[in-house]
Amino acid sequence: MVDLSGQYKKIKNEIDKAVIDVIESSVFINGPKVKEFQKNLEEYLGVSHVIPVANGTDALQIALIALELNQGDEIIVPAFTYVATAEVIALLGLTPVMVDVDPDTFNLTGEIFEKAITEKTKAVVPVHLFGQSADMEAIIKIAAKHGIYVIEDNAQAIGSLYTFSNGEKKQAGTIGNIGTTSFFPAKNLGAYGDAGAIFTNDDTLATSLRVIANHGQSRQYYHDKIGVNSRLDSIQAAILDVKLKYLDDYALAREKAATYYDKALSEIDHIQTPHRCKNSTHVFHQYTLRIKNGKRDALKQCLDNEGIPNNIYYPVPLYEQKAFRHLSGAVDYLPVTDMLCKQVLSLPIHTEMTPEIQDYIISAILKFFKQ
Ligand SMILES: *Cc1c(COP(=O)(O)O)cnc(C)c1O
Repeated sequence: MVDLSGQYKKIKNEIDKAVIDVIESSVFINGPKVKEFQKNLEEYLGVSHVIPVANGTDALQIALIALELNQGDEIIVPAFTYVATAEVIALLGLTPVMVDVDPDTFNLTGEIFEKAITEKTKAVVPVHLFGQSADMEAIIKIAAKHGIYVIEDNAQAIGSLYTFSNGEKKQAGTIGNIGTTSFFPAKNLGAYGDAGAIFTNDDTLATSLRVIANHGQSRQYYHDKIGVNSRLDSIQAAILDVKLKYLDDYALAREKAATYYDKALSEIDHIQTPHRCKNSTHVFHQYTLRIKNGKRDALKQCLDNEGIPNNIYYPVPLYEQKAFRHLSGAVDYLPVTDMLCKQVLSLPIHTEMTPEIQDYIISAILKFFKQ
């Protein structure tokens, strides 16, 4: 699905030097490299505070802890997402209220969000799924009206630019009260191990987030809050700092590959190619088709047989997962999520795609639909 080794080869000298510099400095935790990467990412995103953490799931958990919510408070979350988004909510004794998504964008909408609000709703976690921002203008407006916090799960859309109706542009993940991301190796900005970050423009929340991520300590051995140990290590920071310079080029390469797929595949009946919103750029973390004639599993089998990588993100709605079925506020069925889990199929997309690779994949799909 990705070609991390091909990507590494092109920047090998820079990466190797960055890693060796950290090893030679022997400052593995909280070293200057972490600060440098933090500053560069703040600048890239145009956000006041980046708080580097150990992974994207920790980022979400720390964000929720910082809101100081009470057991039973409801957090609205799309059911069509990676498990981490809802898992941390349940883990903290909060109630994940799972809602449906838009069938074209795969994202939460303002309308769906507003319908799910109750007196207990304290936060909403829109997920910018597959590389495109959810409709944040609508979401933050409704949230403000009801006094609800917005935490953006931006694990899949770092670098995606959202345009408001007045023309103002903001990076995905910097629009709500808090944004979180993951630098898991296969993400658009991938480390060589686990890594993540939290973003906010709120100075008070930033202090709180930093303290929680570091054992709740405001200074060494003075603990003001119950926190966690979630640090970005210096080697990962050094690698990410190199790769950040290429993030826009990487997004462009993914976009180019997506357009190439679009041209060849949008002609096929029964296939819906990814929808592109007017108000958000798409950084194509995934290139995800909807196969609308009930043949998704057969197509997957065909690609598997041809040795073509492909994957289903996500095969099971979160509310059907064993771990979530018995939670209070659980739903049984959401029609769009259910449908998407049966229709979606993601094709390989990464920074090293070539027309030759894509032609091979495309011809296998065309052959399947001609049978
Ligand atoms: C990858 C991902 C996460 C979790 O990130 P990790 O770094 O693997 O913990 C959370 N939410 C979404 C939507 C993701 O894709």
